[in-house]
Amino acid sequence: MQNTDITIVGGGSAGLTLALLLARQQLRVVLVEQGPAPSAAAPAYNRVSALNMASRSLFQQLGIWPQLLAGAAAYTTMQVWEADSFAKIGFSAEQQQLEALGYICDNEHIRQLLYSQLQQYSNVQCYFNVAISQLKQGEREVMLQLDNNELVLSQLLVGADGVNSFVRQHMQLPLTHWDYQHTAIVAKIRCTEPHQLSARQVFLPSGPLALLPLPEPDVCSIVWSAETAEAKRLMALDNTAFEQALCAASQAVLGPVKLQSERQAFGLTMRYASSWQRGRVVLVADAAHSIHPLAGQGMNLGLMDVTALAQLIGEQQALAEDIAATAMLRRYERWRKAEAQSMIVAMEAFKRGFSAKPALAKLLRGLGLAAVDQLPLIKQQLMAYALGLKGDLPELVKNQGAVVDSLP
Ligand SMILES: Cc1cc2nc3c(=O)[nH]c(=O)nc-3n(C[C@H](O)[C@H](O)[C@H](O)COP(=O)(O)OP(=O)(O)OC[C@H]3O[C@@H](n4cnc5c(N)ncnc54)[C@H](O)[C@@H]3O)c2cc1C
Repeated sequence: MQNTDITIVGGGSAGLTLALLLARQQLRVVLVEQGPAPSAAAPAYNRVSALNMASRSLFQQLGIWPQLLAGAAAYTTMQVWEADSFAKIGFSAEQQQLEALGYICDNEHIRQLLYSQLQQYSNVQCYFNVAISQLKQGEREVMLQLDNNELVLSQLLVGADGVNSFVRQHMQLPLTHWDYQHTAIVAKIRCTEPHQLSARQVFLPSGPLALLPLPEPDVCSIVWSAETAEAKRLMALDNTAFEQALCAASQAVLGPVKLQSERQAFGLTMRYASSWQRGRVVLVADAAHSIHPLAGQGMNLGLMDVTALAQLIGEQQALAEDIAATAMLRRYERWRKAEAQSMIVAMEAFKRGFSAKPALAKLLRGLGLAAVDQLPLIKQQLMAYALGLKGDLPELVKNQGAVVDSLP
């Protein structure tokens, strides 16, 4: 039997980041992951995320940023347009006086670097390839029985176990969800033209297609979200036909393309747990909310959840109070729900705004984006949200250096 302060279920980006934050706060942590430990292989860029400035600040604080940046593409411009209309808008790092607008990072590389930092802490125990046999909570502790015969007792248990969270289901935390009726196709491609470190997104009638630059100058990661029937059709095409369809859909902005990886498909669902905590159990990141990937904000949001939770736990530690106090967990829930709700609403507005097909809607979109494109102050505000620098940020990532200070 093991007694610990906090158990984290799930070793994705959120779970591992939380473990590291808590390890630095001298807490005893057990992390339980059903899959294998992060692989030490070089980044393959099969799954990537666009990290914003707030996440960058966090990873700087955690000491993994230099290595993460070495395997990332720092994009300096962003181009968003609508197919078959004049609606378009562009952003540049230079205009915002920043070195980059964001960073395309390999998801497994993020996990790997977090895990290697974690291994320096003797107060953290990670169990990989284990399943949960039992989860019970009492008044003073939570009991987790693992299928490797370990029994873990902790004061607080955190569900960081992703969209189909076992913890959320087991605790019967109610979930609101709706199907975006989109499937995202993810793949790595080689282009004929260099991407010039620009992130591109074209809104097609069936959904958005993003071309995200990777470190090689002519290699991109695509996230092609399309109505489910259309995505099925695209997935069924052979490689050559898919490459042609992709080149046409991207309006050949980077010329003809060649697939460099298998295609992976992800059905997209908005999920939002209406309660994030019960007793000594609390949810973070995708276990609490998942959103459409069109603005690349899901991981960024989850990373701020765990930073906020670690901050509030730290405040309890400083006061020698219960690290699972209901009032503190409710405060966390209110704080991060407000941020998640704003993002859910924004994603819905984007998705609906760009999928309205009538000619008048198209005209208004074109006029609206053209107008915003000419208004530097509004553009700066929009950008500050995308960079993760607006909203109620945790202390750790507030005012981190010149990058953050220079923003409106
Ligand atoms: C196509 C697509 C593109 C995206 N692009 C971006 C982007 O550009 N930028 C961005 O910010 N976000 C992006 N996201 C969102 C981002 O990928 C997620 O928000 C993020 O990975 C969630 O991290 P997490 O740690 O909460 O969950 P996960 O990464 O899902 O990790 C959960 C972990 O829990 C483990 N687990 C599950 N059940 C159990 C159990 N019972 N016991 C033990 N372990 C368990 C799993 O094995 C997994 O390792 C994208 C999402 C999609 C689908």
